[in-house]
Amino acid sequence: DSMLKIQNLHASVEGKPILRGIDLEIAAGEVHAIMGPNGSGKSTLSYVLSGREGYEITEGSVTYKGKDLLALEPEERAGEGLFLAFQYPVEIPGVPNTTFLREAVNAVREYRGEERYDALKFMKVLRARLKELGMSDEFLKRAVNVGFSGGEKKRNEVLQMACLEPSLALLDETDSGLDIDALKAVADGVNALRSPDRSFLLITHYQRLLGYIVPDKVHVLARGRIVESGGPELAEKLEAGGYAGYLDETEAA
Ligand code: ADP
Ligand code: MG
Ligand code: MG
Repeated sequence: DSMLKIQNLHASVEGKPILRGIDLEIAAGEVHAIMGPNGSGKSTLSYVLSGREGYEITEGSVTYKGKDLLALEPEERAGEGLFLAFQYPVEIPGVPNTTFLREAVNAVREYRGEERYDALKFMKVLRARLKELGMSDEFLKRAVNVGFSGGEKKRNEVLQMACLEPSLALLDETDSGLDIDALKAVADGVNALRSPDRSFLLITHYQRLLGYIVPDKVHVLARGRIVESGGPELAEKLEAGGYAGYLDETEAA
Protein backbone atom coordinates (compact mmCIF):
# COMPACT_ATOMS: atom_id res chain seq x y z
CA ASP A 1 0.00 0.00 0.00
CA SER A 2 1.28 3.42 -0.94
CA MET A 3 1.30 5.93 1.91
CA LEU A 4 2.94 8.82 0.08
CA LYS A 5 3.67 9.28 -3.58
CA ILE A 6 5.53 12.37 -4.73
CA GLN A 7 5.77 12.82 -8.48
CA ASN A 8 7.92 15.38 -10.27
CA LEU A 9 7.46 17.90 -7.47
CA HIS A 10 8.74 21.39 -8.17
CA ALA A 11 8.46 24.20 -5.63
CA SER A 12 9.71 27.75 -5.41
CA VAL A 13 10.26 30.18 -2.59
CA GLU A 14 10.00 33.86 -3.46
CA GLY A 15 10.24 32.96 -7.14
CA LYS A 16 13.41 30.92 -6.62
CA PRO A 17 13.11 27.25 -7.65
CA ILE A 18 14.19 25.04 -4.72
CA LEU A 19 12.61 21.65 -5.35
CA ARG A 20 13.31 20.65 -8.92
CA GLY A 21 11.58 17.40 -9.70
CA ILE A 22 11.28 15.16 -6.65
CA ASP A 23 10.02 11.61 -7.08
CA LEU A 24 9.53 9.53 -3.95
CA GLU A 25 7.20 6.75 -2.93
CA ILE A 26 6.79 5.48 0.63
CA ALA A 27 4.78 2.35 1.34
CA ALA A 28 2.74 1.90 4.51
CA GLY A 29 4.97 0.79 7.36
CA GLU A 30 8.22 1.96 5.78
CA VAL A 31 10.81 4.28 7.24
CA HIS A 32 12.63 6.40 4.67
CA ALA A 33 15.49 8.77 5.32
CA ILE A 34 16.34 11.77 3.19
CA MET A 35 19.86 13.00 3.59
CA GLY A 36 21.67 15.76 1.80
CA PRO A 37 23.99 18.71 2.03
CA ASN A 38 22.98 21.95 3.62
CA GLY A 39 20.77 24.00 1.33
CA SER A 40 19.70 21.06 -0.82
CA GLY A 41 15.99 21.60 -0.06
CA LYS A 42 15.35 19.11 2.74
CA SER A 43 13.45 21.49 4.98
CA THR A 44 11.67 22.99 1.99
CA LEU A 45 10.33 19.53 1.17
CA SER A 46 9.03 19.05 4.72
CA TYR A 47 7.37 22.49 4.68
CA VAL A 48 5.76 21.84 1.30
CA LEU A 49 4.37 18.53 2.57
CA SER A 50 3.03 20.18 5.71
CA GLY A 51 1.39 23.00 3.74
CA ARG A 52 3.32 25.93 5.13
CA GLU A 53 2.65 29.30 3.51
CA GLY A 54 5.13 30.89 1.13
CA TYR A 55 5.95 27.79 -0.89
CA GLU A 56 4.67 27.77 -4.44
CA ILE A 57 4.17 24.39 -6.09
CA THR A 58 4.96 24.95 -9.75
CA GLU A 59 4.71 21.35 -11.02
CA GLY A 60 4.02 17.82 -9.89
CA SER A 61 1.76 16.04 -7.44
CA VAL A 62 1.69 14.52 -3.97
CA THR A 63 -0.72 11.72 -3.17
CA TYR A 64 -1.17 10.80 0.49
CA LYS A 65 -3.36 7.82 1.40
CA GLY A 66 -4.92 8.18 -2.05
CA LYS A 67 -5.79 11.86 -1.58
CA ASP A 68 -4.35 14.93 -3.27
CA LEU A 69 -2.28 16.20 -0.35
CA LEU A 70 -1.54 19.58 -1.90
CA ALA A 71 -5.26 20.39 -2.09
CA LEU A 72 -5.63 20.05 1.70
CA GLU A 73 -5.23 22.86 4.24
CA PRO A 74 -2.53 22.29 6.89
CA GLU A 75 -5.18 21.46 9.54
CA GLU A 76 -6.77 18.97 7.17
CA ARG A 77 -3.40 17.34 6.60
CA ALA A 78 -2.98 16.98 10.37
CA GLY A 79 -6.53 15.63 10.61
CA GLU A 80 -5.67 13.05 7.97
CA GLY A 81 -2.81 11.82 10.13
CA LEU A 82 0.19 13.75 8.85
CA PHE A 83 2.54 14.76 11.65
CA LEU A 84 5.38 17.24 11.28
CA ALA A 85 7.98 17.47 14.00
CA PHE A 86 9.38 20.95 13.97
CA GLN A 87 13.04 21.56 13.54
CA TYR A 88 13.04 24.04 16.39
CA PRO A 89 10.46 23.17 19.08
CA VAL A 90 8.61 26.24 20.35
CA GLU A 91 8.43 27.17 24.00
CA ILE A 92 4.98 28.20 25.22
CA PRO A 93 5.24 29.80 28.66
CA GLY A 94 2.12 29.47 30.80
CA VAL A 95 0.63 26.54 28.88
CA PRO A 96 0.98 23.20 30.66
CA ASN A 97 2.26 20.48 28.41
CA THR A 98 -0.76 18.28 29.09
CA THR A 99 -3.19 21.03 28.03
CA PHE A 100 -1.23 21.62 24.85
CA LEU A 101 -1.20 17.92 23.95
CA ARG A 102 -4.92 17.56 24.70
CA GLU A 103 -5.76 20.49 22.41
CA ALA A 104 -3.64 19.04 19.60
CA VAL A 105 -5.35 15.65 19.94
CA ASN A 106 -8.82 17.18 20.24
CA ALA A 107 -8.32 19.28 17.11
CA VAL A 108 -7.65 16.08 15.18
CA ARG A 109 -10.57 14.26 16.83
CA GLU A 110 -12.91 17.12 15.92
CA TYR A 111 -11.73 17.02 12.32
CA ARG A 112 -12.55 13.30 12.26
CA GLY A 113 -15.96 13.84 13.82
CA GLU A 114 -14.93 12.13 17.04
CA GLU A 115 -15.85 13.29 20.51
CA ARG A 116 -13.36 15.56 22.29
CA TYR A 117 -11.46 14.09 25.21
CA ASP A 118 -12.14 15.72 28.55
CA ALA A 119 -9.23 16.19 30.94
CA LEU A 120 -9.81 12.90 32.75
CA LYS A 121 -10.18 10.76 29.64
CA PHE A 122 -7.17 12.40 28.04
CA MET A 123 -5.05 11.72 31.11
CA LYS A 124 -5.82 8.01 30.70
CA VAL A 125 -4.81 8.10 27.04
CA LEU A 126 -1.69 10.05 27.88
CA ARG A 127 -0.63 7.58 30.56
CA ALA A 128 -1.07 4.72 28.12
CA ARG A 129 1.15 6.49 25.58
CA LEU A 130 3.79 7.25 28.23
CA LYS A 131 3.83 3.60 29.18
CA GLU A 132 4.23 2.46 25.58
CA LEU A 133 7.15 4.84 25.17
CA GLY A 134 8.67 3.97 28.53
CA MET A 135 8.57 7.64 29.46
CA SER A 136 8.11 9.21 32.87
CA ASP A 137 5.30 11.71 33.46
CA GLU A 138 7.46 14.16 35.39
CA PHE A 139 7.50 16.96 32.85
CA LEU A 140 3.83 16.87 31.81
CA LYS A 141 2.84 19.66 34.16
CA ARG A 142 5.64 21.96 33.11
CA ALA A 143 4.94 24.62 30.49
CA VAL A 144 5.48 23.45 26.92
CA ASN A 145 9.22 23.07 26.32
CA VAL A 146 10.09 25.87 28.77
CA GLY A 147 13.42 25.05 30.36
CA PHE A 148 13.49 21.61 28.75
CA SER A 149 16.87 20.17 27.80
CA GLY A 150 17.43 19.20 24.17
CA GLY A 151 16.67 15.59 25.06
CA GLU A 152 13.48 16.53 26.92
CA LYS A 153 12.25 18.62 23.99
CA LYS A 154 12.80 15.68 21.71
CA ARG A 155 11.05 13.31 24.11
CA ASN A 156 8.18 15.75 24.26
CA GLU A 157 8.00 15.83 20.48
CA VAL A 158 7.92 12.04 20.43
CA LEU A 159 5.13 12.11 22.99
CA GLN A 160 3.15 14.55 20.81
CA MET A 161 3.68 12.22 17.89
CA ALA A 162 2.54 9.19 19.89
CA CYS A 163 -0.60 11.01 21.10
CA LEU A 164 -1.56 12.05 17.57
CA GLU A 165 -1.13 8.51 16.23
CA PRO A 166 -0.04 9.69 12.78
CA SER A 167 -0.15 7.64 9.58
CA LEU A 168 2.87 9.52 8.30
CA ALA A 169 5.37 11.33 10.50
CA LEU A 170 7.87 13.78 9.03
CA LEU A 171 10.86 14.53 11.19
CA ASP A 172 13.26 17.22 10.06
CA GLU A 173 16.22 16.60 12.28
CA THR A 174 18.17 19.81 11.79
CA ASP A 175 21.65 20.71 10.78
CA SER A 176 22.51 21.90 14.25
CA GLY A 177 23.80 19.01 16.31
CA LEU A 178 21.47 17.13 18.57
CA ASP A 179 23.24 15.74 21.58
CA ILE A 180 23.35 12.00 22.05
CA ASP A 181 20.52 12.07 24.58
CA ALA A 182 18.26 13.88 22.10
CA LEU A 183 19.23 11.59 19.23
CA LYS A 184 18.40 8.54 21.30
CA ALA A 185 15.09 10.05 22.38
CA VAL A 186 14.09 10.48 18.74
CA ALA A 187 15.33 7.04 17.76
CA ASP A 188 13.69 5.22 20.67
CA GLY A 189 10.41 7.01 19.95
CA VAL A 190 10.43 6.26 16.24
CA ASN A 191 11.36 2.64 16.87
CA ALA A 192 8.61 2.25 19.47
CA LEU A 193 6.03 3.75 17.10
CA ARG A 194 6.99 1.81 13.97
CA SER A 195 4.03 -0.23 12.78
CA PRO A 196 2.75 -1.77 9.53
CA ASP A 197 0.25 1.05 8.99
CA ARG A 198 2.52 3.95 9.93
CA SER A 199 5.31 5.44 7.81
CA PHE A 200 8.13 7.80 8.66
CA LEU A 201 10.12 10.25 6.61
CA LEU A 202 13.26 11.20 8.50
CA ILE A 203 15.08 14.20 7.13
CA THR A 204 18.55 14.37 8.46
CA HIS A 205 21.87 15.91 7.60
CA TYR A 206 23.68 13.48 9.84
CA GLN A 207 24.20 9.76 9.51
CA ARG A 208 24.39 9.40 13.31
CA LEU A 209 20.63 9.14 13.78
CA LEU A 210 20.56 6.22 11.35
CA GLY A 211 22.82 4.29 13.65
CA TYR A 212 19.82 4.06 15.97
CA ILE A 213 16.98 3.86 13.45
CA VAL A 214 17.50 1.41 10.62
CA PRO A 215 15.57 2.86 7.68
CA ASP A 216 14.09 0.77 4.89
CA LYS A 217 15.37 3.21 2.30
CA VAL A 218 17.80 6.11 2.17
CA HIS A 219 17.68 8.89 -0.42
CA VAL A 220 20.15 11.63 -1.15
CA LEU A 221 18.69 15.03 -1.95
CA ALA A 222 20.95 17.43 -3.79
CA ARG A 223 20.03 20.62 -5.65
CA GLY A 224 16.35 19.94 -5.17
CA ARG A 225 16.31 16.43 -6.60
CA ILE A 226 16.75 12.93 -5.30
CA VAL A 227 19.99 11.92 -6.91
CA GLU A 228 20.55 8.53 -5.31
CA SER A 229 18.47 5.96 -3.43
CA GLY A 230 19.47 2.81 -1.64
CA GLY A 231 19.26 0.87 1.58
CA PRO A 232 20.87 1.61 4.94
CA GLU A 233 24.29 1.04 3.35
CA LEU A 234 23.90 4.35 1.52
CA ALA A 235 23.97 6.16 4.85
CA GLU A 236 27.18 4.33 5.72
CA LYS A 237 28.70 5.37 2.43
CA LEU A 238 27.86 9.00 3.24
CA GLU A 239 29.32 8.52 6.70
CA ALA A 240 32.60 7.55 5.09
CA GLY A 241 32.61 9.89 2.12
CA GLY A 242 30.49 12.87 3.21
CA TYR A 243 28.61 14.97 0.69
CA ALA A 244 31.62 15.98 -1.37
CA GLY A 245 30.19 14.28 -4.43
CA TYR A 246 26.80 15.94 -4.04
CA LEU A 247 27.76 19.54 -3.29
CA ASP A 248 25.19 22.21 -3.79
CA GLU A 249 25.89 25.00 -6.25
CA THR A 250 26.00 27.47 -3.39
CA GLU A 251 28.48 25.37 -1.44
CA ALA A 252 30.57 24.46 -4.45
CA ALA A 253 30.92 28.13 -5.35
P1 ADP B 1 18.17 22.25 3.80
O1 ADP B 1 17.08 21.99 4.78
O2 ADP B 1 18.49 21.08 2.93
O3 ADP B 1 19.41 22.79 4.44
P2 ADP B 1 16.43 24.35 2.85
O4 ADP B 1 15.22 23.68 2.33
O5 ADP B 1 16.38 24.98 4.18
O6 ADP B 1 17.66 23.35 2.75
O7 ADP B 1 16.88 25.45 1.81
C1 ADP B 1 17.04 25.15 0.42
C2 ADP B 1 17.40 26.41 -0.34
O8 ADP B 1 16.29 27.30 -0.31
C3 ADP B 1 18.57 27.18 0.22
O9 ADP B 1 19.34 27.66 -0.86
C4 ADP B 1 17.92 28.32 0.97
O10 ADP B 1 18.75 29.43 0.99
C5 ADP B 1 16.68 28.56 0.15
N1 ADP B 1 15.58 29.10 0.96
C6 ADP B 1 14.94 28.46 1.96
N2 ADP B 1 13.99 29.24 2.50
C7 ADP B 1 14.03 30.40 1.80
C8 ADP B 1 13.28 31.62 1.87
N3 ADP B 1 12.31 31.80 2.77
N4 ADP B 1 13.60 32.60 0.99
C9 ADP B 1 14.58 32.42 0.08
N5 ADP B 1 15.32 31.30 -0.04
C10 ADP B 1 15.05 30.31 0.80
MG1 MG C 1 19.66 24.00 6.27
MG1 MG D 1 16.97 22.00 6.86
